[in-house]
Amino acid sequence: MPEQVLVTPAALEEPWGQQIVQRLQGLNLPIQELPRNRLTGLRGETERETYDIAKRTLALVTAPASQFKLSPIPPSADWQFHIAEGCPAHCQYCYLAGSLQGPPVIRVYANLPQILANLAQYESPNRDTSFEVSCYTDPLGIEHLTGSLAESIRYFGTRQQGSLRWVSKFDAVEGLLDLPHNGRTRCRVSINAAPVSKRMEGGTASVANRLRGLRQLAEAGYPIGLVIAPIMPIEDWEEHYEALLNQISDALDFDGRLAEFNLTVELISHRFTPGSKTALQAWYPHSKLEMDEQNRVIKRNKFGGIKYVYDRDTMQSLKQFFEQQIGRRFPKAKILYWT
Ligand code: SF4
Repeated sequence: MPEQVLVTPAALEEPWGQQIVQRLQGLNLPIQELPRNRLTGLRGETERETYDIAKRTLALVTAPASQFKLSPIPPSADWQFHIAEGCPAHCQYCYLAGSLQGPPVIRVYANLPQILANLAQYESPNRDTSFEVSCYTDPLGIEHLTGSLAESIRYFGTRQQGSLRWVSKFDAVEGLLDLPHNGRTRCRVSINAAPVSKRMEGGTASVANRLRGLRQLAEAGYPIGLVIAPIMPIEDWEEHYEALLNQISDALDFDGRLAEFNLTVELISHRFTPGSKTALQAWYPHSKLEMDEQNRVIKRNKFGGIKYVYDRDTMQSLKQFFEQQIGRRFPKAKILYWT
């Protein structure tokens, strides 16, 4: 639950924004209507203080025009779109650090119907086109405040060629189980070995509960997925990741019917950029997260940006381990990518 809710005048004009305000009022959250369509006054004395204020603030705003021009998001999906930006959790490696501008306020978009209506033009007429909605937020983590994930699932339930993908570290799936999803939405949970999930993922649901939620979604007929991320060669990593894979097998053991379920796996190794490192060190000054450039190699993207990844041998042994283990335990599951 956020501690403060800020609403811009433009957001209040939107019927979907009014629906969200009603929800928030029903939860007895203090709502402040802003005089202008700008968020101000959210900076503290230090970066850490700014972070604290921002993470406890939900702002209901309208998505800017730039968001109506979608970007591709390989290898996860064809396109990304956004129903919100920011997340209430506190992962010490958060991949949003350094990619969002300004304090990490949770911005929820009030003009959802327009955002959804904009997507159809990006659908390819002769093949399935996938849309990722969790690049800048954890959509399930704020669903009780917005209803926007459910609305997106309903929308994709009506599409022939478009499909939705989302991923979460939360578990409150009840409101999604009876939706007319029509198999057009793949629900994934992001999970990690216990030393990472227990020490570095503040404010999220436990891995056991995420897997329980995923199972409920599978039983409700959704295609499902596992995103194992960020994979780190922590001390005794084989043992810890094997324990995680055992936990997954147990949680998704549908009385031997696992093969009937449509399961995908995505494998993402840990990486950081100069910008994300600076932001994360200010947000989590006591974190034990390893971000030593000396231990990494540089990977460049086509725009000249750099990120620090593990060296080739480390990558190779991690990749091999997961491919073998997953192939043995979940032979029907499709590994979508390793990165
Ligand atoms: S759940 Fe995802 S978006 Fe939220 S803090 Fe953790 S890594 Fe960041």
